[in-house]
Amino acid sequence: MKTEGMSKAAVARAAACEPLARITANAHTHTTWCDGKNSAEEMVRAALAAGFQCIGFSGHSYTWFDESYAMSLEGTKRYRQEIRRLAQAYRGQIDIRLGTEWDWHSKDTDPADYDYVIGSCHYLYSPVSQAYYTIDYTPQELKRCLQEGFDGDADAMVCAYYKNVAEMATQRRPDIVGHLDLLRKLNAQGCYFDETAPGYLKQACRAADACMEAGCIIEINTGGVYKGYRDTPYPAEPILRYIARSGGKITVNSDAHDAKGIDFMFSEALQLAKDCGFSSLWQLTADGMKEFSI
Ligand SMILES: [Zn+2]
Ligand SMILES: [Zn+2]
Repeated sequence: MKTEGMSKAAVARAAACEPLARITANAHTHTTWCDGKNSAEEMVRAALAAGFQCIGFSGHSYTWFDESYAMSLEGTKRYRQEIRRLAQAYRGQIDIRLGTEWDWHSKDTDPADYDYVIGSCHYLYSPVSQAYYTIDYTPQELKRCLQEGFDGDADAMVCAYYKNVAEMATQRRPDIVGHLDLLRKLNAQGCYFDETAPGYLKQACRAADACMEAGCIIEINTGGVYKGYRDTPYPAEPILRYIARSGGKITVNSDAHDAKGIDFMFSEALQLAKDCGFSSLWQLTADGMKEFSI
């Protein structure tokens, strides 16, 4: 692991940027087109009420083996039309960007169809049981993944998860990497693996390295805290500090599935970024992701 302070290049880059006093955008937003609770227009109104300059939508990409939470193929087309319609309707009030949260196991989405892509890993595939397991759905399913899919070997499960994240970043090069350490969502009491173990942190940091080498922006995601699963955002603080030391790029997203959560914990997340050693933060704008000094 790298141990030097934040890279000189990153500090110099940040110093040249416009300052950001508060976060005024969210790039990770779900709606009723996937597993969100509010319509896209209701989310736009929530973004306006929160004083945002920009909102980006990130409907879950279609996954053929699990249609429970993702957009259908037909729904994806209609989602795209609806977000473009809203972008026109709210022109002059707020910038609306069309994105997708593209799962690593989703094969049917062309990233060229979107303004930006968030790359995420929600599943683990086990060659042993030849099955996909959702890692962020229920403790029962995660337990089944560990026992059936990885013979009860938590280290092997952790290794497979972070290998997925690294491969996703390297091969798909999304603009943003979603919730880098999502595997810890259901691990609040450390019941599946030790999040403080050097071996665990090494795996997570290796995955972060792959994301940084691919040029991806890594998100601080407050969604797991909003839903009550964890006390701190993804990624965990030691991983964030490592990313800062390595000169990585960061953004803050709420992963909102309802209107109330649109800007959840944004001021705390901004402070967390500063405390972890970041001197800049990327934010979605009408011209794409833009770097600001913090
Ligand atoms: Zn996600
Ligand atoms: Zn999401």
